[in-house]
Amino acid sequence: MRQKIVAGNWKMNKTLEEANILASEVSGMVADEVRGNAKVIFCVPFPYLTAIKGVLGNNSRIALGAQNCSEHEWGAYTGEVSAPMLKSLGIPYVILGHSERRQFFGEDAKLLAKKTDVALKHGLTPIFCCGEPLEVREANQHEALVTKQVEEALFHLDAASLEKVVIAYEPVWAIGTGKTASAQQAQDMHAVIRKHLASKYGQAVADKIIILYGGSVNAANAKELFACPDVDGGLVGGASLKSRDFTEVIKGAN
Ligand code: 13P
Repeated sequence: MRQKIVAGNWKMNKTLEEANILASEVSGMVADEVRGNAKVIFCVPFPYLTAIKGVLGNNSRIALGAQNCSEHEWGAYTGEVSAPMLKSLGIPYVILGHSERRQFFGEDAKLLAKKTDVALKHGLTPIFCCGEPLEVREANQHEALVTKQVEEALFHLDAASLEKVVIAYEPVWAIGTGKTASAQQAQDMHAVIRKHLASKYGQAVADKIIILYGGSVNAANAKELFACPDVDGGLVGGASLKSRDFTEVIKGAN
């Protein structure tokens, strides 16, 4: 049985005060209302990591993640944040290769392979994002592109390292658009990704890899998406910014 995960990606939103309130509300609601054992992750802006860690205290059901890290470990890279820094803050997860980083910051497969390596080297769990833009889906090239994204950034890893990576399939046309992939579309792509992993690492390893769906997940569609056999939870943007909405999404995974 794979662990279900619901990760909220706050992106570049919230003041510190708003962030503290959101974390504390979700934490309370999860404790009071959510049964089951899905793991919850808040991927928060760098400057809030320590404060939110304090808000969560020893709540063991909610973990923290960053939204990016440098491919370098230390040194003269002004403005960057490194994997060993995150490790030293006690942060277990880091999102890598989000489509917004690929689109607005030019992140490519080679860079993401390096970031994955440095994150793993320092004991962080990468949440590696892949997903196709609309024109690729319309040209029916989505399976080819997504398997290529996974292969180029991850297939240099040995099986033991790959097993530490969480994959998030986020079709770009579904991000922030309110246009969710249907449960069938999500399941189909997750199965394709898992099959591709199996072709290199064998079925037993592929069956262990957690694959999340992201793209307009909300309280109304979470349960159906998360019930798909190859969908192990979600990476949630907009709906993670409101405590009630996010709690309902989390319930969808339990
Ligand atoms: P939305 O849930 O707002 O579509 O964002 C998804 C996303 O990009 C999560 O990383």
